[in-house]
Formats: sequence, structure tokens, C-alpha cells
Amino acid sequence: QCAAVCPTGAITIKNDQSEVWKALYDPNKRVVVQIAPAVRVAIGEEFGFEPGENTLGKTVAALRRLGFDYVFDTSVGADLTIMEEAAELVEKLESGDRSMPLFTSCCPGWVRYAETKHPELMPYISTCKSPMQMLGAVLKTYYAPMDKKEHKETVSVAIMPCTAKKYEVSREEFKKNNVPYVDYVLTTLELISMIKEIGILFDRIEGESTDMPFALHSGAGEIFGVTGGVTEAAVRRVVADKSPKALKDIEFMGFRGMDGVKICEVDEGGLNLRIAVVSGLANAEALIRKIESGEEHFDFVEVMACPGGCVAGAGQPFARRKEKRMRGEGLYKLDKSSQLKRSEENPLVMDLYDDLLKNRTHELLHVHYKGQEK
Ligand code: SF4
Repeated sequence: QCAAVCPTGAITIKNDQSEVWKALYDPNKRVVVQIAPAVRVAIGEEFGFEPGENTLGKTVAALRRLGFDYVFDTSVGADLTIMEEAAELVEKLESGDRSMPLFTSCCPGWVRYAETKHPELMPYISTCKSPMQMLGAVLKTYYAPMDKKEHKETVSVAIMPCTAKKYEVSREEFKKNNVPYVDYVLTTLELISMIKEIGILFDRIEGESTDMPFALHSGAGEIFGVTGGVTEAAVRRVVADKSPKALKDIEFMGFRGMDGVKICEVDEGGLNLRIAVVSGLANAEALIRKIESGEEHFDFVEVMACPGGCVAGAGQPFARRKEKRMRGEGLYKLDKSSQLKRSEENPLVMDLYDDLLKNRTHELLHVHYKGQEK
């Protein structure tokens, strides 16, 4: 087994390809897979496509040829994350306590960093699970009755740009009765190696779409893969003005671009927010010092451990600044062509709240790390 190392330098993780192959060849297993937004704009580079080119359809088709039973898009989980994180932000603002910001929680590299270096910040970190874990919990819950009836076991796999996600799935907080909601994480590079191993001609394969009933997602969910994307999606959700003009205004609020620190003000319809978007842990550390010394004040802080966000994750093909930028632009292009721009416009999300998630949002969509209690 070969080892990969997380960009945070804190986590060493094993390669899960052989375990996934075993599950794929086991007739008693239903193997479901989800694909993170950042993967679709990078995986093609290994097969001759430009950075940023959307190869989601080809990736779906390749996963089916590898033997996966159902293929889903993590952007659906990102839509759920936005619904929950925006609600948390609104609740915080309404409480009147603006002394500390709400920090995002979807990057496991950042969460681990906060736990080890800044435990005093844990009460301010969102309790939302990452999009991968939210969709993972939905999928295991959805297939549980079918598993019982058909005497099968659902194995949940996630294709991620990230090595730290392997660590996340191993955490006790993301297991129910000792069974993880997501069983295995394959990095983009590991998936590339499996595609090559079996001889799939990725450049020639026809694109296919993801499976029902979890196929609908918004553009807001897709931009999660780039620094600033989570914040832009959350702001789209919280501002009262839902007009196309407001959407355009949000685009130019300063969340976009590859800078490691972006400071933005949201002044819309009575909402007055000061927001920081940071990527790279050195940038996060410098910002935390300013917040803790009182030099800076924010209401919301997005932190991604990898400079540039998930498009530049350690599990992706190697990227310089140019490739990172092009991958980010690829995600914004997908958002532009998406019919649904806001997470709350996604009818699937609303159906989930009315049905599978009814009275279970806390259990399935939230997590409590040690030290988070206020
Ligand atoms: Fe993983 Fe990096 Fe994305 Fe964090 S920013 S979730 S470490 S790829």
C-alpha cells in the first residue's frame, strides 16, 4: 500500500483502491459513489483536456464502466451544506453576538488545524458536516431499507480532490454504530490510476449523467470547489434580494480570484457583513492572530487549507497558479450555465427536508467536535 501526504503535513493516509476494487467485484455489495465539484475540472488534464474543462459526464461514464452501481454529485451535498450553514449564520446574527465570526467547517485540513493549534476557536466553527458527509449520510439512510430487503450492503465511496478527506471518513464523529457514512475516499489521482488500469479511453468515452433521485444541484453547489465559492453560495442564500441584479452584485463583492486572503463587505437589504475568505493555513494563521488581537473583526470566515481551495487539493493532478485559476474559472462557467443559481432553488433539497431529513437534520447533517460546545 502506498501512502499519500496531506498538504497540512499532519495526516498520512493510505491508498484505498484495493478495498474499492474488492467491493466492486462483490455481488452482495451495492457500491455508490459521489464526485466532488473540483474533480470535474481537473481529472481531464491527465487525458489531454485543458485545465477547467468540465469532464463530469466522462467521469460518470468511466465510474459506471468500473462497476459502480450509482453515481452522484457532491454538489447536492454542497446545496444542503449551504442551507444549514446560512441558517447558522442568520441565527448567530439574530442572537446579537457578533464578537467572533462563524468559521466554515467543510475543509477537514482546517478543522484539524483548529483542533490542534487553536482549540479556543472550536466553539465558533460551524457544526455543519462537509458536503461529502452530508450526501454520504443521505445515501446510507436512503439505501438502508433496500439493503435490508435485498440482503445487500451499501458501500459508499467518494471521489475527492483531497487526501485529508480520507482522514475525515475515519473519524468517529462520522460513523453510526461504528459504520462510516462514507466508507472510502479515492483521490482524483487514484481514480485516474483505476481508469488507466482497466484501459478505459477517457478522452473517447461518451459523457453520461448522474443518477436519480439525487441528480439535481445548483450552481452554488458547484462553486464550492474553489476558494470563495462557499462564501458566495452562502451570501446568495442569506441576502433577501433574489433578483438577477443582486446575483450579479454578489459576483463582484470580491469573493472570487486566487488571492490567499480576500476581505469583503456585504451591504444589501439591511444586511451588513464583514467577511474574510482565506486559503492556505499560513494565511489562516495570520488572520486568526489579527482576529484574536482585536485588529480585525469579521462575521463570517471561510477557510480552506489548500491555497486556491479544493481545485488545488493534494489529491488532484499537479497544478501551478495558472492551472488553479483555470480550474476555478471552469467551475464559475458551470455555475453560469446552471439553471439553478441558489441552493434553496433546488427542488431535490426541499424534498429531502420534507421527507428523508424530516426531524433528522441534526443527526444527519451536523457534527459535534470536541470543544465545540459554547
Ligand atoms: Fe481538502 Fe484542500 Fe479542499 Fe481542504 S481545501 S477540503 S484539504 S482539498
